[in-house]
Amino acid sequence: MVVVMRGSASDEDVTKVINAVGEVGGEAFVSRGKHQTIIGLVGDLTQFAELPLHAFPGVEDVIRVSKPYKLVSIETHPRPSTVWVGDVPIGRDTFTLLAGPCAVESEDQTRAACRMAKDAGASILRGGAYKPRTSPYAFQGLGEQGLDILADVSRELEMPFVTEVVTPADVETVAAKADMLQVGTRNMQNFQLLKEVGLAGKPVLLKRGMTATIDEWIMAAEYIAHTGNLQVVLCERGIRTYEPSTRNTLDVSAVPVAQSLTHLPVIIDPSHSGGKRDLVLPLTKAAIAVGADGVIIDVHPRPELALCDGPQALVTDDLIKLREVILRFTDAADREVATPTAGKQAGAWGRSAHV
Ligand code: PEP
Ligand code: MN
Repeated sequence: MVVVMRGSASDEDVTKVINAVGEVGGEAFVSRGKHQTIIGLVGDLTQFAELPLHAFPGVEDVIRVSKPYKLVSIETHPRPSTVWVGDVPIGRDTFTLLAGPCAVESEDQTRAACRMAKDAGASILRGGAYKPRTSPYAFQGLGEQGLDILADVSRELEMPFVTEVVTPADVETVAAKADMLQVGTRNMQNFQLLKEVGLAGKPVLLKRGMTATIDEWIMAAEYIAHTGNLQVVLCERGIRTYEPSTRNTLDVSAVPVAQSLTHLPVIIDPSHSGGKRDLVLPLTKAAIAVGADGVIIDVHPRPELALCDGPQALVTDDLIKLREVILRFTDAADREVATPTAGKQAGAWGRSAHV
C-alpha cells in the first residue's frame, strides 16, 4: 500500500503514520518529494486492514497496489486449478458442458431435459429446485421435492448435478444431495450464504453478480475459499448494461481477465446472458474461443410450457448443433471435452489450500 501525504502535511503527521504502521508489525518507507511525501507500506495486507489511515491527519490518499484476495489469487497458486464435480473435471485442460432444465418442474420434464443434456454430451446436470425469481408470483421451484427429483435422475443417468441454494438455512439440505452448489447472480454478495456454502465442503459454482465488478466477484470467491473450501468455479452470466436487445450483456473479456487474476476455473452461461435460444450457440462459440473452461446451458423438452426461462431453453435440434459446435471448436482450441474420469483422486485437490 502507498500512503500519499498532502503537500501541507507536517513531519509530525508523517511520523504518526510511520509509528502506526510499525505498531501493527508493518514497515514504512518514506519518500520525500519537493511538494509531497509518499509512504510505502510493506507487510501483510491484513495487518493494515483495520488501520484507518485515510483518517490520519495530513493523509491525502491510500492506494492499494496489491489485490485484496489471496487464497484464490493466481499469485498464490500460479498453476490453474481443476475442480472436480463427482468424477468430472472443470479446469484449464478440458471443456465441460453442464446442462439441464432451468427449473425442476416435474419428474417427467426433468428426466427428459436431463436425457437431452446427456445426449448432447453434457457431463454435469443442472437444475433449479429453489428458484430466485424477480416476482413473488412467479414459480418459486419445487424445493426439497425438486431436489429429490434431481437426485433420482442424476443417479439414473450416472451424472453429477449442480443446483442453486438461495438461503443459508437450506445449505445443509441441498449439500446433502447435490454434487455442486450454485450461488446465483442475485446472491453473489450474500456473505452469510457464501460462508455457509463454503463450509458445506462441496464444490461451488459462483455466478457473477449482474452489477458486480470482476474484483468484487473474485472477492466473493475469496469468502468461500476463506472457509477452507477452494473448490470454486466462477461463472460469467452476463451483466447489466444499457443494451436491451439481450437479457444481459455477456462480458466475454471477463474470462481471460478472471483467469489472469485467479487460479479458479471460469465458465460461461450463454443461456442467462443472451436470454434467447438463438444466441446460445454463437455465445458458446465465443466461450470456447475466449478460453472459458466450460458452459452451462438451459434445456427443456417443451420450452413453450416452461415455468421458467423457456425462451432461452434449447430443444433437441439445437442440441444436435450444439454438440457439433462444441466438438469442432474445442478441437480448434486444442481442448478436450470433459468426460467422467476414473481415478480423479490422484490429481484431486480442494479442501486443502494447495494445488
Ligand atoms: C440459473 O442458473 O438458474 C439462474 C437463476 O442464473 P442467474 O443467477 O445467473 O440468473
Ligand atoms: Mn434460468
